[in-house]
Amino acid sequence: MPTLQDTYRHQGRRRALVRELRQRGIHDERVLAALAAVPRHLFFEPAFEAHAYQDKAFPIGEGQTISQPYTVAYQTQLLGVQPHDRVLEVGTGSGYQCAVLLHLTPHVSSIEFNEVLFARTRLLLAGLGAGGATLHCGDGSLGLPDRAPFDGILVTAGAPGLPPALLRQLRVGGRLVIPVGDNQTQRMVRVTREGPESFVREEFENFRFVPLLGASGWR
Ligand code: SAM
Repeated sequence: MPTLQDTYRHQGRRRALVRELRQRGIHDERVLAALAAVPRHLFFEPAFEAHAYQDKAFPIGEGQTISQPYTVAYQTQLLGVQPHDRVLEVGTGSGYQCAVLLHLTPHVSSIEFNEVLFARTRLLLAGLGAGGATLHCGDGSLGLPDRAPFDGILVTAGAPGLPPALLRQLRVGGRLVIPVGDNQTQRMVRVTREGPESFVREEFENFRFVPLLGASGWR
């Protein structure tokens, strides 16, 4: 387990990271404030803590990664979270993105497919006092019908296409942010539900994610 200390040194490195993200084009002040507030090093094993404030993804075990801070900021900015929005994250992983979302709204659900990561991250988030999210273990490509509809759904793994269940679980006005592509590169896509049967798709930068598994993912 990581040490739960957040020192001035950590905070200084976080401010430097946020300056870097601002220079790369992240402009939503609430998103930048969330990244400045969440101690990313606490989501790393102590031996790897030195990597926490570099703008890069890092292995978290089980063949998975904690996303790069730029990617977390980019996706969160596209999601456009308002203070009372109900948000679903697909791919809890380390729990870092979940903790960032919790700075923007208290109504966060997150679902993780991998049982080992789910069990570990549930304990970690509770220990960090970020237990406000409801955490689930299962196939997030099917969403969370019991907690739908959502104002925002953020998928943190690369999908072969738009999962129909996630589109159905968006509230009218809600946004789905999801990387879509092949196993090399994915285009960041935002789909906004403008009416019961009306969806608007926008495309943004290319990224490289681990694959989304499950019924609407890579099998
Ligand atoms: N958001 C994470 C974080 O902040 O650390 C990064 C997640 S990692 C890039 C992607 C995660 O998606 C992995 O933990 C993986 O196990 C999970 N995943 C893949 N397919 C999934 C699915 N169908 N449902 C839920 N989680 C899935």
